[in-house]
Amino acid sequence: MFNEITLLLLLIGAVIGGLIGYSRWSLRGESNLRMPERTFPNEWRRILQEKVEFYNRLPSSNKTDFEKRVHVFLLNVQVTGVDTEITHTDRILVAAGAIIPIFGFDNWHYSNLKEVQIHPNKFVIPTTDTMASGLVGWGAMEGKMMLSRKAIEHGFYDQSDNKNVVIHEFIHVLDKQDGEMDGVIEQVMNEIDIMPWLQIINMKMQEIGKGQSTIRDYGVTNKAEFLAVVSEFFFENPERMKTEHPALYNALNSFFNPRDRKMKIQNRFKSRRRKK
Ligand SMILES: [Zn+2]
Repeated sequence: MFNEITLLLLLIGAVIGGLIGYSRWSLRGESNLRMPERTFPNEWRRILQEKVEFYNRLPSSNKTDFEKRVHVFLLNVQVTGVDTEITHTDRILVAAGAIIPIFGFDNWHYSNLKEVQIHPNKFVIPTTDTMASGLVGWGAMEGKMMLSRKAIEHGFYDQSDNKNVVIHEFIHVLDKQDGEMDGVIEQVMNEIDIMPWLQIINMKMQEIGKGQSTIRDYGVTNKAEFLAVVSEFFFENPERMKTEHPALYNALNSFFNPRDRKMKIQNRFKSRRRKK
């Protein structure tokens, strides 16, 4: 009798656990998304080939997946021009910058973003007199991002400066998706990772403060800006980061490429079993 009840409780637990897991997953799943009905246009592919180094570095088997995700993004997030006409290049570069940070995640969509507004150049942040090249909206601007075309083009043109405004702003959207923009992406950082991650942030911010870092100064503003700045570096020049900031590289690689991490854990498990 006792065993039957235990078994029943375990089953109920498993079902509830499964449902919670499912609902959390489907929140960022693609079930409600508009999906492409035609193949990826050649003109769009040419823009990726010409301007997006991350895409060119991918093995050819992953390029199709990248294109599909760019396509899905563009069907579900509006890209509009403010005092300017939107071009294919604008749309493709915005979508590429959106997909680069989440390319390692299966089934992820920016559910909290509806529109990206492109300005020809720097713009005034609403209700302030400050100029910006990129911004994630809040309040009345919630669900919107604003970008300067000049900054977008520069971000993809110069691959050596570890700067890309599109990647930067999409990291903020990702960071914001758990409710708080604080340099911690709760959905992809396991609880066990958070303390060591905060320690790395503190150490690296101190180095920047002392002028002893190759990470740009803006990273010292706060933890959210730190995450955005080092992510630009990570996606633009992974090899350089690996050499100059190995601990930071390993942390970011495990957040942004969870498939690699799963494989590493499995391999570790296998080799441990082999030793026994
Ligand atoms: Zn920022």
